[in-house]
Amino acid sequence: AAKQQGRDRVCFFDPAMQQAATERLQLENDLHDALTRGELELYLQPQVDAQGRTVAAEALMRWRHPTKGLVNPGAFIPLAEETGLIVAMGDWMLQRACAMLRRLDDAGLPIEISVNVSARQLREADFVARLQRILGEEGVFASRLTLEITESMLLTDADQVVARLYALHRTGVKLSIDDFGTGYSSMTYLKQLPLHEIKIDRAFVDGLPDDANDSTITRAILGLARDFGLQVVAEGVETDAQAERLRALGCPRMQGYLFGRPQPAEHYLRQWLGH
Ligand code: C2E
Ligand code: MG
Ligand code: MG
Ligand code: MG
Repeated sequence: AAKQQGRDRVCFFDPAMQQAATERLQLENDLHDALTRGELELYLQPQVDAQGRTVAAEALMRWRHPTKGLVNPGAFIPLAEETGLIVAMGDWMLQRACAMLRRLDDAGLPIEISVNVSARQLREADFVARLQRILGEEGVFASRLTLEITESMLLTDADQVVARLYALHRTGVKLSIDDFGTGYSSMTYLKQLPLHEIKIDRAFVDGLPDDANDSTITRAILGLARDFGLQVVAEGVETDAQAERLRALGCPRMQGYLFGRPQPAEHYLRQWLGH
């Protein structure tokens, strides 16, 4: 009621904010139907090893809006999280990603897939059960799937989230910390969580190879990962010079526009299957 009242007052005194609120409401209405109207799309972006071979891919959600065209996650994931729609949308992503893994398995291609998971999904009491059902339906081994989580997830209900992550770990899925180094007290998580991988945030890759601080941070993260026995993916690699420095520092995996932009899953599947 207070929110409604606030909205009415904004509406009366500030046309710009009124318009923003109306647009948000419209987008929220549209988002409600996006899933049932088949407007969500699975995009993939390759991850390559030090030799440049594609060893994995990150699944990225896109929304084919009827009038706005292709919408990036930054414009609708936060809204999906606030409204709870992310739960059903996230299930859809997991199902589509597992269907892709099934097709890769059938073709004998050992390419892994990572899926981003929101805190809101992870907090669902039956998240683990639903994930296992999807894996079972598609006939995919849990170890073929990586779930990317962010440090910010641990800011509230940390105990509950940590317990959930251990339950996920026991199913055999791999866990990755996304945007590593941008959150706070990252080091704590390295020893507390059953992690398989960390992703070095684009913010640190950006300054390579010239920025001394970014080089130092990247080298330190790679050293930590090595000592903890973790896989590492450097994100947002755009130039040869960045890739060269990362390889020299011993970075085992890279992802970025240099190796491939996010594209519809079918695009990469055709490429990998060789037709
Ligand atoms: P993220 O998980 O950190 O994904 C990496 C983002 O960096 C993607 O943006 C990707 O397109 C972009 N990127 C990749 N390589 C480069 C590069 O070389 N240079 C630059 N400048 N950018 C690069 P995108 O697809 O817009 O996704 C943004 C964020 O939305 C993701 O960040 C992730 O947090 C979230 N997201 C995407 N799909 C999903 C999903 O299915 N579920 C949830 N919960 N979140 C998702
Ligand atoms: Mg990610
Ligand atoms: Mg990231
Ligand atoms: Mg990000």
